[in-house]
Amino acid sequence: MSLYKKHEENQNQQFSTRAIHAGQDCDPGTGALNTPIFQTSTFVLEELGKNRGYQYARTHNPTRTALEECLASLENAKYALASASGLSAAYTVTNLLSQGDNVIVGEDVYGGVYRLFEQVLTRYGITFTYVNAQNLGDIEAAITPATKLVWIETPTNPLVKLADVRAIADLCHAHGVLLAVDNTFATPYFQRPLDLGADVIIHSTTKYLGGHSDVIGGAIVTSDPELYERLQYHNNAVGAVPGPFDCFLVLRGLKTLKLRMREHERNATAIANFLESHPSVERVLYPGLKSHPQHDLAAKQMTGFGGMLSFVVKGGLDAAASTVGSTKLFQLAESLGGVKSLICHPATMTHKPIPKEIREHCGIFDGLIRLSPGIEEAEDLIADLDQALSGSRTQCAVRELAVVG
Ligand SMILES: *Cc1c(COP(=O)(O)O)cnc(C)c1O
Repeated sequence: MSLYKKHEENQNQQFSTRAIHAGQDCDPGTGALNTPIFQTSTFVLEELGKNRGYQYARTHNPTRTALEECLASLENAKYALASASGLSAAYTVTNLLSQGDNVIVGEDVYGGVYRLFEQVLTRYGITFTYVNAQNLGDIEAAITPATKLVWIETPTNPLVKLADVRAIADLCHAHGVLLAVDNTFATPYFQRPLDLGADVIIHSTTKYLGGHSDVIGGAIVTSDPELYERLQYHNNAVGAVPGPFDCFLVLRGLKTLKLRMREHERNATAIANFLESHPSVERVLYPGLKSHPQHDLAAKQMTGFGGMLSFVVKGGLDAAASTVGSTKLFQLAESLGGVKSLICHPATMTHKPIPKEIREHCGIFDGLIRLSPGIEEAEDLIADLDQALSGSRTQCAVRELAVVG
């Protein structure tokens, strides 16, 4: 099908070599070193009934094929499908379901995934059961004959909680249920869910894989040929495919994934350590910290602790608002995983639609702040947070004085 060498041939190579070479041989037509952006909607037939491997660009496009082969290679998978966004990738996976089917969902999934399930797919007669994916017994208890799919994220957003992929995969397979894992936060550099037993991986390539906050994209990854065929069918039938330029941007991002993830992790570790000893901070959530309740699981199922962390600032909403409003390098914005550092206040931004009681039940307090450290120098990022937190401390002190006064 593809004009390019199949990525399986490269699987004995190391991660960063595959990131640069898998699916990315020089262009066979011109010798171009990099995969060209094939900005075309259709491909000319050689003769009736005979194409050159490509026919219509919704179905296949060579720039997309290169990205798909590279993504599959990095996840140690046989197949990948590029999608227009992380949410369209999630939607395409749910196209495997039919009316009456049930899905068990880890309760702290990405808000957009929750919205897709609850506001869109419930109207099609698919039911969703939300469980604490940290607790295997809760998942098992929720399985019914209608359950076809378990959907988890690990680590989660914004509380960076982990789920034990191997244990959940074993449980799913004992019940004939598929396991889908959203691997957006960890990326294949730090976690390969198929190796741990998952059936399907979903990515928002908008985040670390693209890595520069300049593209929206998604991907679906699997090694099961039957599943791939069904997913590929729906990807084409529904048509939520990415354009070739967007594929090029993600493919360009993948080439430096290892370098960036190492820096993101290094910065996250330095910042987590700094925050843990800061007097204005109540609690730091980062899987790399010994204080993280699932630090051992993280060390076991991941090859690193990732780049995302959250913390709870003392003083609730006011202190959080003051902190996120005072950083100069950390930009106040949704999204994550780019080279530029971002700061976010989940209670009023990403998780605002969730009622306060439910938010707090899950641990999303008003003082919670999420950080996506970029790849700037750690000392500059720490200095930025330090000045922002000392502002919040002063404000608290002033308020306390005012109350006392
Ligand atoms: C951003 C995100 C998504 C949705 O991806 P889009 O590219 O924004 O559609 C899904 N899952 C996770 C974990 C995300 O962070």
